[in-house]
Amino acid sequence: MASEIQKLRSEKKNEIYIMREDLLSFSMGGNKVRIAEVFFQDMQKKKCDAMLIYGEKHSNLCRVLSNLCCSKGILCVMICSHGENEEEKVTNNTRFIEWSGTEIVHCKKTEIAETVEAQMNRLKEMGKKPYYIYGDKTGRGNEGTAAAAYAEAYEEIREFEKKMGWEFDYIFLPSGTGATQSGLLCGHFQEEDKKKIMGIMISSREKERMFSIIQEGIEDYHKKTGKILKSGYEKEIFLLDKYRIGGYGLYDERVKECIRRQYRTNGIPLDPIYTGKAFWGMEEYIKEKNIKNSRILFLHTGGTPLFYDFLQKEEESCKC
Ligand SMILES: *Cc1c(COP(=O)(O)O)cnc(C)c1O
Repeated sequence: MASEIQKLRSEKKNEIYIMREDLLSFSMGGNKVRIAEVFFQDMQKKKCDAMLIYGEKHSNLCRVLSNLCCSKGILCVMICSHGENEEEKVTNNTRFIEWSGTEIVHCKKTEIAETVEAQMNRLKEMGKKPYYIYGDKTGRGNEGTAAAAYAEAYEEIREFEKKMGWEFDYIFLPSGTGATQSGLLCGHFQEEDKKKIMGIMISSREKERMFSIIQEGIEDYHKKTGKILKSGYEKEIFLLDKYRIGGYGLYDERVKECIRRQYRTNGIPLDPIYTGKAFWGMEEYIKEKNIKNSRILFLHTGGTPLFYDFLQKEEESCKC
């Protein structure tokens, strides 16, 4: 698996490149293609034969995992959580999940653990050996598995640098569960290079909690692979919490403007929940810290179906 790294136009003070993970060649791409792949392999390694997944109705991970299970003939059950005042609207990802034939079980955000347990039991009673992607019913214990995806992808970044004969100074990316950032950090620690990996928080999740989840991902990965983790590594975990604009899924005109501008200047689709918000956050950070003469890589983590959700919303709000 590989995606392309391209240079962006119209950036003056720095050179900005973008790694097009949105163009990975399965199920409309995105970081979840690599992550779904490692979960699937882990399921096979553990000799399980049914997949239990969890997410919201517009989840990119659930789209890709559903599609992957469907294409491999593996039973997939999705626990779909709902917040209190959420819009009930069907999204593009909801449709794709349905198309894959995934069985959907709805539950409240406060009832996830019970629902996971009940579904695991139900699948066992059906004679299946189910695999829950997040480990135990509280969602712990499998952090290092997802991290492996981007520890590997880091090699592709290193190869690009070797080809160019220089190194990036920064990598920016949207950080949600932290799996992608954990993985990149694992790659970075193994290579012992100088890059700073900047996770832009896109949700209102507590920063300390997010930090400790990333740490767990890194430590679990090193434990599972038997690699040595240097002490004091935590100092290199950078999380920016200034650009969340109120929390997950919330955005304003600044993000919209950034999305339109990137489309116009570079022909790149960004969505307002992850990549658009993070790209805007990166630009703000560069301005605030007056970063100059640097080589910067933005990891385009995908979410193309969300880009089309956004496009439709623009259409609906258009008074023309
Ligand atoms: C899931 C997702 C992220 C966040 O990745 P994590 O590994 O959960 O931090 C970012 N962008 C897109 C498009 C995603 O689907």
